[in-house]
Amino acid sequence: MKFATRSVHAGNAIDRETGAIRRPITMANSYELPYDPSGVNWSASDGSLYTRNGGANQRYLQDKLKSLEGAEDCVVLASGVAALSGVFFALLRSGDHAVVSDSTYIAAYRLLHELLPGKYGIKTTLADSTDTETVKAAVRPNTKLIHIETPANPTLKVSDIALIAEIAHGAGALLSVDNTFASPYNQRPSELGADLSVESLTKYINGHGDAMGGAVLGRKSLIDKIRAEAMVNLGGAISPFNAWLIMRGAVTLPLRMKQHNEGAMRVAGFLEDRKEVRFVRYPGLPSHPEHETAKRQMENGFGGVIAFGLAADHDAHNRFVSRLKIITSAVSLGHDESLIVFLGENDERQHLYPEAFHGGFFRLSVGLEDAEDIIEDIKQAFSAL
Ligand SMILES: *Cc1c(COP(=O)(O)O)cnc(C)c1O
Repeated sequence: MKFATRSVHAGNAIDRETGAIRRPITMANSYELPYDPSGVNWSASDGSLYTRNGGANQRYLQDKLKSLEGAEDCVVLASGVAALSGVFFALLRSGDHAVVSDSTYIAAYRLLHELLPGKYGIKTTLADSTDTETVKAAVRPNTKLIHIETPANPTLKVSDIALIAEIAHGAGALLSVDNTFASPYNQRPSELGADLSVESLTKYINGHGDAMGGAVLGRKSLIDKIRAEAMVNLGGAISPFNAWLIMRGAVTLPLRMKQHNEGAMRVAGFLEDRKEVRFVRYPGLPSHPEHETAKRQMENGFGGVIAFGLAADHDAHNRFVSRLKIITSAVSLGHDESLIVFLGENDERQHLYPEAFHGGFFRLSVGLEDAEDIIEDIKQAFSAL
């Protein structure tokens, strides 16, 4: 079956008890024990015991997501960061080394660059993963994991998944890819050779800005380990209600992604032609440094997130945002409404960003509104400059 058909049907079925054509929300914390529970494994991660060991709505959502990604197995957790920390905790131990993209979601940086090295003696090298030679040079004999994000938050840098998978496997390491900015509609790391694909479900997959969740996808042996450690023992279980909301959102993922892809392409093209704009980064623009890689591995489009800076000072950036009427100033991305964040020139990771980003910049998540209205909103806010 094709992607859109799987988005609708995977994970759903007739509810056997009521005949309802939608599976219900099961909010129970516990499931009935057998007559003699003395043989029960209280740390099991296969459900029907306690919701932190796995619940019904979690399993339905896992079935949908693994079908969309084309992965053998999936675990869904409380947030994208629970998924990231689940991968890092399950795969790395004291003395191990990891290579990580120098542009990632802030918590991946915090975990791999500060918390795990400081507390557990794990070594990390931040590498510019847009350059495969740099990745290769960063690998050491004890490298167990390469973690990349593509397109990366907040710079939109694009890394070549298939080439980096070869480097990882040649070194006996695993490759995990944070696929949040693309979503499985645009890019499926599992099909490109990655061992693990991480998604913040909070973003495009739920898509409505009203529930948090995370997922890790990959082969069963790896996912079983992450499920047992990150969900049962670290406690990152998702709420059944959130799993149900995300399941509902995921049904329209292909329709929404089409609109995000088209809208962002038009807004990025508009920005690139304006004198008020100092730079624009969007993987769909031929001016993007890794546009060719993006075209090769992003099957249906380039997502809804654009980075850009104004040819103006710090205050002007804030003034511009305060004049916007449709686009909301708030973090997050992949929601139905357009969101913008100003990342000022005092950002602690400034030195890791490409030079153009050093004067401060915006991360704009183009929502599902008509692109013409978004463009008009930006045009009228330019007058504040
Ligand atoms: C938002 C985000 C995360 C974290 O997800 P949460 O659901 O907020 O915990 C991880 N990676 C990327 C690329 C993100 O944008």
